[in-house]
Amino acid sequence: ETVWTELNQVTPALQGKNITVRGFVQTIRVVGKGVFCLLRSKMSTLQVVCFEGKSCSSAMIKYIGALPAESVVDVTGVVSCPETPIEAATQSLVELQVTSFHAVVKSQAALPFQMEDACQKVVDREADVGEYFEDAPEEVARGGVGRHLRLDYRWLDLRTPANQAIFRIESMVGQLFREYLVSQNFVEIHTPKIIGGASEGGSDVFTLDYFGRPACLAMSPQLHKQMTAACSGFERVFESGPVFRAEDSNTRRHLCEFTGLDLEMAIQEHYDEVLQVLCDLFVYIFDGINERCAVELERVREQYPFQNMKYLNPVLKLTYAEGCQLLRDAGIAQDDYEDLSTEHEKKLGDIVLQKYGTEFYFMDKYPLSVRPFYTMPDAENPKLSNSYDFFMRGQEILSGAQRIHEPNLLEERATAHGIDSKDIESYLQSFRHGAFPHGGGGIGLERVVMLFLNLPNIRQTSWFPRTPNRLAP
Ligand code: ATP
Ligand code: MG
Ligand code: MG
Ligand code: MG
Repeated sequence: ETVWTELNQVTPALQGKNITVRGFVQTIRVVGKGVFCLLRSKMSTLQVVCFEGKSCSSAMIKYIGALPAESVVDVTGVVSCPETPIEAATQSLVELQVTSFHAVVKSQAALPFQMEDACQKVVDREADVGEYFEDAPEEVARGGVGRHLRLDYRWLDLRTPANQAIFRIESMVGQLFREYLVSQNFVEIHTPKIIGGASEGGSDVFTLDYFGRPACLAMSPQLHKQMTAACSGFERVFESGPVFRAEDSNTRRHLCEFTGLDLEMAIQEHYDEVLQVLCDLFVYIFDGINERCAVELERVREQYPFQNMKYLNPVLKLTYAEGCQLLRDAGIAQDDYEDLSTEHEKKLGDIVLQKYGTEFYFMDKYPLSVRPFYTMPDAENPKLSNSYDFFMRGQEILSGAQRIHEPNLLEERATAHGIDSKDIESYLQSFRHGAFPHGGGGIGLERVVMLFLNLPNIRQTSWFPRTPNRLAP
């Protein structure tokens, strides 16, 4: 009888038991009359040992020794605990003494890189950025496949224990997001990604032909989530879905397609109600990862060492003006009514960490002029708005605001932004039949995971990154 066992379940507790495991062959090393083979499955590895004797013939050793790396194999054997730690890559205290070994599928193509190399611990974080950075444009122009083999062969790259862990953590962020909002009576929505005209406008929109009519890919679920929450009376909605932006530059924090975690809610008296939900949501997510993903965090750390992100509960809140003042106090010129550059956001992150001991905080009351047309102006200072950004390790992860629910003001603000009301007719129309006061925000999933793990490049937290030079795999 076959006792199938997951690799991560093979512990000293199973010593003496006969089990069968399936995994990728990472390395094979023939030594004298035996062979060592490192098996890998998900986030775990296991040393498999086969020496000529009772249960292993010399033919079997020859067969194993000739298998190509990354073949999928089934191995049956007896769990044993070697007295001295094995010198192979694994730190594991157990190994499997083979009784039967067979290839389910042999790997057929030469590997573009060695998995051992792809699993190398990163010592210099900044120097490692190049590994995942985009192909040089001139290289692509020449039709080259690009030097960034790990992204070209992403299915192999994703096999490393660290990558297995990163995407299990990312999955957990999505689950915690949904879990928390459902517990707060939010309804999950699915808004269209193909939308008419240049709805939200701007140059970073992908356009397409929709049966002869111009259409575009949604740059956020903004308009429809407002429609459902405020105008259709759902009051509390959220969505997890793709967001498309033709970001025409290669940065370490932008993708052309990313996953937006969005929410929108009716408010009774003040947009502080939204901020409270957002703060509680993030703390729930961060606590949740720390509590539920201990193994995954350890796997990431083994390859990409990082310090835990410092965060406080209650979450630190600053006004935009206070943030600008902190920069000026540090000798950095920043006007209260001008937008923050990425560089200044990072500097402010450093200052806030020094002063308040947190790497997670938010600022509200941004200048009205730097926010989208649907943002609610501040009742007291018309140059400010009821809007906010959240930051992790000095980088933006969320933007949100109270939105305008009064149709005439909405139209007036659109016009002031140079948006033709004809282009957003149904959106404007939806507010003419009564709408709840409301607010919300949009989070970038890949960015949250990148910053939580302090990874240097957003490509590392996107399953199959889409950047200006990359459309495959
Ligand atoms: P940035 O200032 O970094 O360009 P943004 O202000 O243009 O971001 P928003 O429109 O506020 O972005 O989108 C909400 C969130 O979506 C951002 O806070 C960020 O987490 C994420 N995000 C925005 N653009 C991208 C992108 N190109 N790739 C990945 N995530 C993104
Ligand atoms: Mg942007
Ligand atoms: Mg921004
Ligand atoms: Mg923003």
